[in-house]
Amino acid sequence: MGNLNIALGALLRHLGCDVVQGQKPNKRSLEMGVRYAPELVCLPFKVTLGDMFGALERGADTLLFIGGGDWSCRYGYYGRIQCSILRRLGYEFRSIFVGNKDIKFVASEILRMNSGSWTTAIKNWTRGFAVAWHKSKLVDEVESLARHFRPHEQNRGECARLSHKFLKRIDDEDRVLALRKMKKEIREEFCSIRRTGQPAPLRIMLVGESYCVIEPFVNFDIIEKLGELGVHAEPFLTAHRWLFYHAMRINEDRGFPRKEARALAQPVWQYNAGGEDQLSIAYTIRAAQQGFDGVIHLMPFSCMPETAALPVFERVCRLYNIPFLNISLDEHTGVAGVYTRIEAFLDVLSQRRARQDSVENVYPRSQRVAIQHP
Ligand code: SF4
Repeated sequence: MGNLNIALGALLRHLGCDVVQGQKPNKRSLEMGVRYAPELVCLPFKVTLGDMFGALERGADTLLFIGGGDWSCRYGYYGRIQCSILRRLGYEFRSIFVGNKDIKFVASEILRMNSGSWTTAIKNWTRGFAVAWHKSKLVDEVESLARHFRPHEQNRGECARLSHKFLKRIDDEDRVLALRKMKKEIREEFCSIRRTGQPAPLRIMLVGESYCVIEPFVNFDIIEKLGELGVHAEPFLTAHRWLFYHAMRINEDRGFPRKEARALAQPVWQYNAGGEDQLSIAYTIRAAQQGFDGVIHLMPFSCMPETAALPVFERVCRLYNIPFLNISLDEHTGVAGVYTRIEAFLDVLSQRRARQDSVENVYPRSQRVAIQHP
């Protein structure tokens, strides 16, 4: 999912695993996933199943699943069904499920990989975690700078080139000190990009299902596409925040802590129905309060929590007077159709911006905090 493999791969390698990664999601892996997955299951199930074929063909003998059945949507049984599909097709492998209740089992696995020595296990875990954390933070920094500068770049593709270069260096580097030093270099290079000098670009908040927001293959690289069209797209969740904030529950989101987000969304959406629906709603409201020009909601076709929450997104956007575009994704979705809808949406936003003549008039700062839920 996105660039999550860079940090997770480092952590697992330090714990003593030989990490085998399939290719990034691609047309072939999607086709394989679609061929063997239940027809109406959600898109992330199909894409990740397709990825597993790639990893097993490259020699993986163990599959590690995050989430061991304790989830309120289909994600909870993803792993077990994917395993049974793969085993029925003749693949042989060991499966490990990591859920809230499996901490003891995970600890014993880590101990086994470190020849039964707790000292080595703790040392490797600490070092692995530190390296993974710094890599993940840097990846987040690269993604954030690319999002920020892309709408302004004079030579198209400059941000993509820098992102590619630094992501590769981050992946190859395993020393914490060197990773820390790299941050300055990354900032300097992005800041030196030649810019067009265009005034404030349109700002769009991307919300919805985590996988669809983070993985460029399934969302047709929407962040890059919007950037190339001169629009700043801000995802409510990134790979880094998903890993530490969502999966490991480390509060990384100091600007908008989970507690605050929950309180903002609760009057209209009481609790998470599975994915990140409650958080998404909170970010939608916050986008309106911060004067974003629009909200794009990405979800897999047939996703239970996002389908249930969709009318609430639409109502919240009407109440807060912020344009909203829903994009439902599955294996039949075509890139041309999605881009056409996005371009039409951008036309609406530009006309709205021109009519209102400034963000300040669309949503005056004085009202932003005062507005209460109905
Ligand atoms: S959040 Fe939606 S898409 Fe993701 S696993 Fe749950 S049902 Fe599927």
